[in-house]
Amino acid sequence: MDNKTMNDVKSFVSENWENVIRDIGRLVAIDSVRGQAQPGMPFGPGPAKALALGLEIAGELGLDTVNCENMIGYAQVGQGEDCLATITHLDVVPSAGWKEDPFTLRRKEGYIIGRGVLDDKGPSVLCLYALKYLKDRGVELRYPVRALLGADEESKMQDLEYYLDNYPAPLFCFSPDANFPLCNGEKGIFHARVISTLPLDKVADIRGGVAPNVIPGSAEAWLRHEGELEPTETVSVQKEGELWHLTAKGVGGHACHPEEANNAIALLVNYILDKDLLRGEEKDFFLGLQRLHCDYYGKGIGAQAKDDMFEPLTIIGGEIGIEDGHIFQSVDSRYPTTSSGDKLKALLEQNWGALARVVKTGDSVPFYMSLDNPAIQVCIQAYNAVTGENAKPYTIGGGTYARHFPNAVSFGPEHPERPAPAFAGPIHGVDEAACEDWMKEALEIYILALLELEKLDY
Ligand SMILES: [Zn+2]
Repeated sequence: MDNKTMNDVKSFVSENWENVIRDIGRLVAIDSVRGQAQPGMPFGPGPAKALALGLEIAGELGLDTVNCENMIGYAQVGQGEDCLATITHLDVVPSAGWKEDPFTLRRKEGYIIGRGVLDDKGPSVLCLYALKYLKDRGVELRYPVRALLGADEESKMQDLEYYLDNYPAPLFCFSPDANFPLCNGEKGIFHARVISTLPLDKVADIRGGVAPNVIPGSAEAWLRHEGELEPTETVSVQKEGELWHLTAKGVGGHACHPEEANNAIALLVNYILDKDLLRGEEKDFFLGLQRLHCDYYGKGIGAQAKDDMFEPLTIIGGEIGIEDGHIFQSVDSRYPTTSSGDKLKALLEQNWGALARVVKTGDSVPFYMSLDNPAIQVCIQAYNAVTGENAKPYTIGGGTYARHFPNAVSFGPEHPERPAPAFAGPIHGVDEAACEDWMKEALEIYILALLELEKLDY
């Protein structure tokens, strides 16, 4: 990466910046949450409208565009299918609780604010402008470069499923839909449901959690119990007719980051067992729950695992409830290469024996790209060259677009490690914001990375 190129990229970015912001604003204006499918619009009108506009913007920049049946679309510079690619998405999550219109882009103290500015409409526009650079500068391309624009990332990733079923996978692809510097690995993701085989006894009802991958901040149970009950710091109690109503308050969080949460189901289960409110097999079932919940590294059920690529295995119980007269508990585990979905299922079965059956509801194996891969080296070097840092790639417990490709990484543009003003909200949150200087930096990084990726053999 010579100075002349770096300077040229910098001036391209500043010359185009006002247009970048304008185009992000145009996309932000569309509420592209997944909706009811309609003829020709598999994810509903919002994502289809955003995709159409994304491709229109690409066309204005002089890029070729293809809409793949409103599932996904792409802009391209250069001819052919054996391409390098970026992948971003134009669908968004719902915008509840905003004081100002989430669909009107605001600019404040060097930040842009609006739904999707950072996840992932802003990065989508950056990718289109990176392609514009290649086109405007007449860069000779060994491989065409495709900017894939997904329309279903936030829901089911059916956009990408469709693409990979119908088109060859790119030679290498990066996805600006995560944190900088670069994510080269994602843990395995295992989901299961543990369903009690017992009829209800002392427990009349139990509820907690909203989704399998979310650690609940509160959980409740209604129990048959004669005698008094005292509340604790985390569990409140109330007599309701014949039943005791217990409410546990913990701290909610994401299954990927259990260290930041305090699972309310664990608090509830511990209370019930501490007070000895159950009998027989029902008590044994709850002891199984306690072993599951006692340690998010899986110690209680013997599921601990680690390797030298990922952080240690984590496991949490997300949703608890009653279905057809039986208690169920959902389980979410993020596992390194030394564990597997089958192993986890067997451990859960062992934990409960005949008291429960375990249904595997999802399993995606760990995804890892070697740090020796030249494409990864080139991307991280582009990042370090622009930022002046000496950053190293990282791995995560979550699942992104990248794991679905044979050859892909997540590559920015978020910077959770950099301090931001209080008014700048997070992705998926109220007042989602992106720092313009960091976005400029990201565009420079993407252009430089693509220029270097062009020089590699695949
Ligand atoms: Zn995203």
